Amino acid sequence: MPDLTLRGGNKKVIDRLPMVCMVCGDDADLTKSKTFTYTPPGAWAMFGLLGAVIASFFTKKMRVDLPLCHKHSNPWLMSNVATAALLGVLFGGLLIMAIFASALPDRDEKSIAIGILVVLWILGMILTGIAAGIASKRAITSVEIDDRRIRLANVCQEFIDVFKESEEEDEEERMPRKSMAKQSKRPPRDEDDDDDEKPRRTGIRRPDR
Ligand SMILES: [Zn+2]
Repeated sequence: MPDLTLRGGNKKVIDRLPMVCMVCGDDADLTKSKTFTYTPPGAWAMFGLLGAVIASFFTKKMRVDLPLCHKHSNPWLMSNVATAALLGVLFGGLLIMAIFASALPDRDEKSIAIGILVVLWILGMILTGIAAGIASKRAITSVEIDDRRIRLANVCQEFIDVFKESEEEDEEERMPRKSMAKQSKRPPRDEDDDDDEKPRRTGIRRPDR
């Protein structure tokens, strides 16, 4: 899915977004505010708690009001479910193994049961981990944020097309609006003198004035 760069300022997007679902390109019914965060990869050079503290200084945030349709009101649902499943398998597996370990009195039975459980546990984590990875790769996410722009990944092409069209229209509208403003500021031409309508229309200037 393609990327889209939006302009921002004051930690939120300032571009006007069309009411088109950013996930599927249908008409949007709602907007959802989400603050995206981005930490430059280099900020993680030092790992551990110190690394996390240093990285937090470099973390950039930007709020986007995402237009979405009712079907995609939560674009991160799948990713959240898969992550919850992964955590469930991780801690649930440990709990089940602990229960089996304490419940089975026979040493051989215990080691067989734990052996099977460990294999299932690792398999479960691999599968839910892959699912979480795929789901998060498909969801709208920020791939770069600085003070003036945010780059979002996995925005649907229809949205990008409509957004670019509306941007161009805005540009075009701005140009003639400026010249119209100039025209209206011009002083009205001799409104008090109704008699010289004809000469003015033909462009002939009256020499007696
Ligand atoms: Zn949609």
